[in-house]
Amino acid sequence: MAQLTHCRSCQGTRLHQILDLGLHPIANALVEPGQRGQPEKLFPLVVVMCEECSLLQVTETILPNVLFGRDYPYFSSFSPALLSHSRSHALALVESRKLGPDSLVVEVASNDGYLLKNFVEIGVPVLGVDPAAGPVQAAQKSGVRTLQAFFDGDTARQLAREGYQADVMLAKNVLAHVENINAFVEGFAALLKEDGIAQFEFPYLRDLIESCAFDTVYHEHVFYYSLTALKPLFEHHGLYLNDVEHLAIHGGSLRLTVSRIEVKSERLRSFEAEEAALGMDGRTYYETFARCVRDVREHLRALVLELRSAGKRIAAYGAAAKGATLLNYAELGGETLAYVVDRNVHKLGKDMPGLRLPIRNVETLLSDRPDYLLLLAWNFSDEIIAQQKAFSDLGGQFIIPVPKPHIVDLQQYTPRMAAAELVVCSDGRAAWETARNKARTTRRAMDSEPDRKWLSGLVPL
Ligand SMILES: [Zn+2]
Repeated sequence: MAQLTHCRSCQGTRLHQILDLGLHPIANALVEPGQRGQPEKLFPLVVVMCEECSLLQVTETILPNVLFGRDYPYFSSFSPALLSHSRSHALALVESRKLGPDSLVVEVASNDGYLLKNFVEIGVPVLGVDPAAGPVQAAQKSGVRTLQAFFDGDTARQLAREGYQADVMLAKNVLAHVENINAFVEGFAALLKEDGIAQFEFPYLRDLIESCAFDTVYHEHVFYYSLTALKPLFEHHGLYLNDVEHLAIHGGSLRLTVSRIEVKSERLRSFEAEEAALGMDGRTYYETFARCVRDVREHLRALVLELRSAGKRIAAYGAAAKGATLLNYAELGGETLAYVVDRNVHKLGKDMPGLRLPIRNVETLLSDRPDYLLLLAWNFSDEIIAQQKAFSDLGGQFIIPVPKPHIVDLQQYTPRMAAAELVVCSDGRAAWETARNKARTTRRAMDSEPDRKWLSGLVPL
């Protein structure tokens, strides 16, 4: 793969290396039983910062057919909580934008139309755009007008020529995955009405850094966004950042509103001021983060090796992409960990990519009784610890790897999140979303109990 020489956003050539996590397999590519004898392709997992526009990005460009295999990333996965959350978002937009039969809502990466359907039901015309055949057919069948295409400037201009002009455009959890980010944003500029708005949801870099969540770095995530880095990207295409909401989804996300006219909300100004105060436009902020990442590796390895030398057996929980990044970066394989457990039956019997730990069902914890459980899905530590009470009642202990690796003291443990709503995102990962966009405050509200009403909707990780 060619080395990245230019920033994908501003074309700047001064790319400063922030993180080098070593060689990694594709994080989502679980090893099938029939592939065990074959080597995996490994790619450098390196994050650089553009010194011109401050955007963080991975250096590797991996072709989609290699990166995603036969499965395109935007597959359907729904829960009642997600559907209800999507409905509220749609209804709020209808009200605030006064949408009606003459309006148009366009969603990019619209999947099977689960969000757009809410607009259709109340008579607001929609257009979904998605490259995956299966979800597009499902959307069309349920009455959601959907175009099967990659969204970029050309697609958008063609639609504009056909008379489409959008009052509202939506893109949830796709901005970080799109390699050609300029063509993507150009498409929004081409299709948006003069007074229209576009909303983008994406994981927030500041949240990633504050929780040292380097394990969300993998090749599928090409970009790690701050408002500071997004501002020049959008302005290059004549779009302005106007408002932002902070969601707890994916460990902390932003919902950004942009339009052709600059009308900055107070909330946006305050986010931008905080980024400036933190120094998110410079190297130092990211170099501090990189040190934290190296410390996690060192301390986690030391902790695990110490437990192993004391004769303890350790398993891990959560066979997701982030687990692959963490295990491969910390080089924790079969000599230290026994296996990984996961509730998703489709993952059982396969191996984690790279160091190839076998994936077993969670019941194994009670039959095999390892001494420790390393929570790779640490963002769900509250739920896992609650679910695995039988394991801890038998003496099993939990290890949380970030931001500082530690063995959980259950006497002292207080749930990490409070009053949050559990949803499943369109990319299939379960995630949190607070009802009132108070992710940061709730995460710090260590004394509150989680709202168990929502926890009852917990889905397999
Ligand atoms: Zn740049």
